[in-house]
Amino acid sequence: MPLITVVGNRPQFVKAAAVSRRLRERHDEVIVHTGQHHDDELSRVFFDELGVPAPDHQLDAVSGSNTAQTARILAELEPILAEVGPELVLVYGDTNSTLAGALVAAQAGVPVAHVEAGMRSFDRAMPEELNRVLVDHASDLLLCSTETAVRNLEREAAAGEAHLVGDVMADVSLAFQDLARERSTALADRGLEPGGYLLLTAHRAGNVDPPDRLLKLVELLEALPAPVVFPVHPRTRRRLEEEGLRDRLAVAPGLELAPPLGYLDFLELARGARAVLTDSGGVQKEAYLLGVPCVTLRDTTEWVETVDSGWNVLVDLDADRALAALDRKPPAERPELYGGGHAAERVRDVVSAYTGRL
Ligand code: UDP
Repeated sequence: MPLITVVGNRPQFVKAAAVSRRLRERHDEVIVHTGQHHDDELSRVFFDELGVPAPDHQLDAVSGSNTAQTARILAELEPILAEVGPELVLVYGDTNSTLAGALVAAQAGVPVAHVEAGMRSFDRAMPEELNRVLVDHASDLLLCSTETAVRNLEREAAAGEAHLVGDVMADVSLAFQDLARERSTALADRGLEPGGYLLLTAHRAGNVDPPDRLLKLVELLEALPAPVVFPVHPRTRRRLEEEGLRDRLAVAPGLELAPPLGYLDFLELARGARAVLTDSGGVQKEAYLLGVPCVTLRDTTEWVETVDSGWNVLVDLDADRALAALDRKPPAERPELYGGGHAAERVRDVVSAYTGRL
């Protein structure tokens, strides 16, 4: 029997780059792309660069509110599940695609495996947090990136089997560093020197949707020492345009408003940066793995180990705190946190042991 993997947005394509290859050593995998991120910049480039197998089913859940998007994916997934008859459905992370995939499977009595289970920011205002909690409690296999995640699930008495597997995004980051170094010309193209610039990403709803928060983000960007590379997520670009702030940023000295970058260019820019500023979960981890200090533009994080080890500082959107964080010296120690690049193999092993018992 095949299994179904549901993906829909940028970080999920990165995660699938690690896991699909491993799953296919032992299973038939059917990939469903929900269309949450559909454009070349956020989707296609990841399939091409990272060798993610082409989706078998392409849905069209592009826009709408979280509820509308989830409902649409649910409706489109149900007949695919009935047609494929999978032994298990695998979902990643915390998006509407994750929630819809888990719910459709659970309601059909099909086991659900959740990769990146147990992550918590304890901030229920984040749409991602609601998705995480709901998906974890609908899942049979809880595949955790960190010990903290396992403990979170124990505390919530989640019914599924929890396994500490490590982080599959770390697998990809570690595996592609050499290729990025070889292929990417992202620094040379911009005339940047390693250690001589900052890299910033921001797209969390809580940072870019409320106008006052977006203005704080703009003020923070203007306060940073140049040069700064800012690959602008489409959601953020749209919000900057709606609030009339894009032109203001376009003239900020030393700030490059770049389009979203491919994985290899982004990885290479992150590796060479003096520090990374971000509200992305994936980018916090990647900065840690690269040994680049991270300044997180939120007041909570799910990746608490990066903060505890001194490599990541939470500053919310406070420009003064961000500048102070940039002045800190990076710690001497950087313990291995995320499974050393073998998480996808462990996901494969846990999934095949589980399906073998069905
Ligand atoms: N990323 C990328 N190009 C960019 C920005 C990010 O390839 O311009 C990659 C990044 O390396 C990481 C992933 O996208 O692997 C993170 O995705 P995102 O920040 O959208 O998601 P989050 O982790 O916040 O859910």
